[in-house]
Amino acid sequence: MKQILILGAGFAGLWSALGVARQLDLHGRDDVQITVLAPQAELHIRPRFYEPDVHQMAAPLQALFDAVNVRFVQGTAHHIDEAGQRVGYRSADGSEATLA
Ligand SMILES: Cc1cc2nc3c(=O)[nH]c(=O)nc-3n(C[C@H](O)[C@H](O)[C@H](O)COP(=O)(O)OP(=O)(O)OC[C@H]3O[C@@H](n4cnc5c(N)ncnc54)[C@H](O)[C@@H]3O)c2cc1C
Repeated sequence: MKQILILGAGFAGLWSALGVARQLDLHGRDDVQITVLAPQAELHIRPRFYEPDVHQMAAPLQALFDAVNVRFVQGTAHHIDEAGQRVGYRSADGSEATLA
């Protein structure tokens, strides 16, 4: 299985994941796993951050990722091994792991 790993679930990460999922669907491909790695499966609505209570301005993404077969991994990347094609990250529980 080929791997596409996207770091971050902001506008760029979300749009990348949805764009890849759409292209794979259009081409009938089921041999590629899309993974999004980010601290939270939510999109923070930065354009509205001048308003009060900005902590509530986050759209949940897990159901959307599930609907388009995108795997979400909760964690924070800290190392990109370009030669080895792996990303080191710290998961939400503090443990260390890597993703291809
Ligand atoms: C106050 C404010 C108002 C704005 N208003 C507008 C506007 O009106 N119109 C407009 O077009 N743009 C606006 N912008 C700009 C717009 O919000 C940004 O251009 C956009 O959010 C950038 O998207 P991004 O995906 O690159 O980054 P972000 O949206 O910042 O997303 C980054 C993602 O990466 C994750 N991440 C960070 N570090 C790691 C790590 N080590 N490992 C894994 N994941 C990580 C974060 O958790 C997040 O999910 C505004 C920005 C701000 C701050």
